[in-house]
Amino acid sequence: MGTPGAGKGTQAKLLADRFGASHISTGDVLRDAVRGGSPLGLEAKRYMEQGLLVPDDVVIGIVAERLDAADCQGGFLLDGFPRTVAQAKALDALLARRGQPLGGVLLIALPREEALGRLAGRRVCAQCGAMSQATVAPTGRCDRCGGRLVQRADDREETVRHRMEIYERETAPVLEHYRAAGLLREIDGTGSREDVFQRVAASV
Ligand code: AMP
Repeated sequence: MGTPGAGKGTQAKLLADRFGASHISTGDVLRDAVRGGSPLGLEAKRYMEQGLLVPDDVVIGIVAERLDAADCQGGFLLDGFPRTVAQAKALDALLARRGQPLGGVLLIALPREEALGRLAGRRVCAQCGAMSQATVAPTGRCDRCGGRLVQRADDREETVRHRMEIYERETAPVLEHYRAAGLLREIDGTGSREDVFQRVAASV
């Protein structure tokens, strides 16, 4: 969990690699669908471009289907889900049915101004989808595949403002849901990604 720009995706990938867990990012699934032009992608695009949440039933369906895949049976890490209390309750029900309770919920906490700065500098590879910062990729090319780096449509200033508001309104209450369940662990998200990962790894 964390505001847009807090570093969820970066830390989730590192954590999933370290523990050999499957990384499920609803944002990545939706972006792939948009790139592929599938019916799911066409529906999701309208919401994502405006910084709005994709409807609960759509994302809950994605997660339910993904959890059934063979690679999730040994453990998984959810990134960017749940983002509403309805999604959190649906996840509780799904996991209860599977007899597979959540081990913990990590909240990466970053001051809003810092998150806004990171989002403004964030670039994504148009070819492979890898994320980087404009300052560390001054050539404008992806250091993995050489693809062109572009700004994510939903990282533009106006859209980011929407996403932050929606986080406060829809997602912040999810933190209370997990705090009440004794599952929430708060991590200081400031500093380099290696610094943050040390704290993340120490918390699990
Ligand atoms: P992310 O990459 O996690 O920042 O997600 C990018 C966008 O995908 C969000 O701004 C939403 O439009 C959509 N999205 C991702 N995850 C969810 C979710 N759990 N619920 C609703 N919309 C989502």
